[in-house]
Amino acid sequence: MIERVQKELVRLKPYAQRSTFGRIQMSACVRTRDAEWVVGINQRKTHPKSNTPWHFIHAEFDAVNKARLRGLDLLGAEMFVVRWRRDNAFGMAKPCEVCHELLKSSGFRSVLWTTDTGFDSENF
Ligand SMILES: [Zn+2]
Repeated sequence: MIERVQKELVRLKPYAQRSTFGRIQMSACVRTRDAEWVVGINQRKTHPKSNTPWHFIHAEFDAVNKARLRGLDLLGAEMFVVRWRRDNAFGMAKPCEVCHELLKSSGFRSVLWTTDTGFDSENF
């Protein structure tokens, strides 16, 4: 389990580094039961379907939105959320309440996120 998770998180790192957000670089990966995957990043802009009142797109929302546009089945999917810190280490990436609700209501099976010391996860 841990090896698989670490592989997944390391693969997501370059995506987080591509984030246009600036200070906080996040990426999130949807992995469906059919092993399809889509990556989202946090961005300093809005989206008409944004799930938050903020002028930011959270990486989780970006990933879910892209997955839906591709017509992927999210039921039973897994979400991985990565934060890459300026000091070149993984950081706390626990989904906010709004994204948490989005994942739960979209039928995700679990979410896993990086922390300052490793990772944590939750099953829905
Ligand atoms: Zn969020």
